[in-house]
Amino acid sequence: MNKDKRTEISEIGEFGLIDRIHQGVKIKHASTVKGIGDDAAVIGEGKRLMVVTTDMLLEGVHFDLAYTPLKHLGFKAVAVNISDIAAMNAVPRQITVSVALSNRFPVEAVDELYEGINLAADHYQVDLVGGDTTASRSGLIISVTAVGEVEKEKISFRSGAKINDIICATGDLGAALMGLQVLEREKQVFLSNPEMQPDLEKYTYITGRQLRPDARMDIVHELRDLEIVPTSMMDISDGLASELFHISKASGVGVMIYEDKLPIDKQTYDTAVEFDLDPITCVLNGGEDYELLFTIRQEDFKKLEKHPDIHFIGHVTKAEEGLFLVTKSGTAVPLQAQGWKHF
Ligand SMILES: [Mg+2]
Repeated sequence: MNKDKRTEISEIGEFGLIDRIHQGVKIKHASTVKGIGDDAAVIGEGKRLMVVTTDMLLEGVHFDLAYTPLKHLGFKAVAVNISDIAAMNAVPRQITVSVALSNRFPVEAVDELYEGINLAADHYQVDLVGGDTTASRSGLIISVTAVGEVEKEKISFRSGAKINDIICATGDLGAALMGLQVLEREKQVFLSNPEMQPDLEKYTYITGRQLRPDARMDIVHELRDLEIVPTSMMDISDGLASELFHISKASGVGVMIYEDKLPIDKQTYDTAVEFDLDPITCVLNGGEDYELLFTIRQEDFKKLEKHPDIHFIGHVTKAEEGLFLVTKSGTAVPLQAQGWKHF
């Protein structure tokens, strides 16, 4: 380490940090098909390949136990990893789960956490095959690794988007962010007056999206049934705009998306207005929705046209055309990726 120079991690951000780590890596094996730089790594030889991904959730950074039931947390820790397997157009098979626990947690709490993990394992049809348990002095940490399988010709990388492809997004966006805003507000209300009961009834959809997201394996299976291989795909964990930048950079293309095509639930919209936030900003920059963002060839459009949960939000353009959002009034404004900054 150069002792004279100190760079704060916040100066380069999470993606800058990943790029820096990536630069120091030399690939030694032909079986490393794809290393750092996509939703999951791809390894193996021959026609069937494996995908591997890992994600860590930290108390105080990714979740707050004041309003996160341990059972939901266990489910979410698995779901966010399955989402990265889905993003490669792969099918998940196994997971390992490692936890760091402080003596604050009794065995019953650990049971509750694993109840959620096992529920997710059943839901996504994966086997829990190992992991590690250790003591923690600074809150709960859960790290999950997921392994999946995919036929070589069906993998969707971030790098395959082609000019004129149609950009698709599943479900609706911005809900998890607004759910988090509500949970945080009710926590503050409770802290200032413990007599007050949290008022969460009218926010069940968005708080559910925050606390217990569902990875879109259903979409992966449907695309397979329709014999569609997305030309590029990733999951929406950091916000739509940020993910569009990743696809644009990896594929060497531009994008044009349309405000009136962006999917937003009414509860998300109403809550954004209530919080004095622009609903479209929530859709573009809200994280943790765990929906899928993908591109398809024009000729595959007919097969998906009537799908109730897939939205056609724009199209792929030339790299030099940049990334733009066309507003409802018809003005094209440059997209900005805020994403989530943990540092
Ligand atoms: Mg991802």
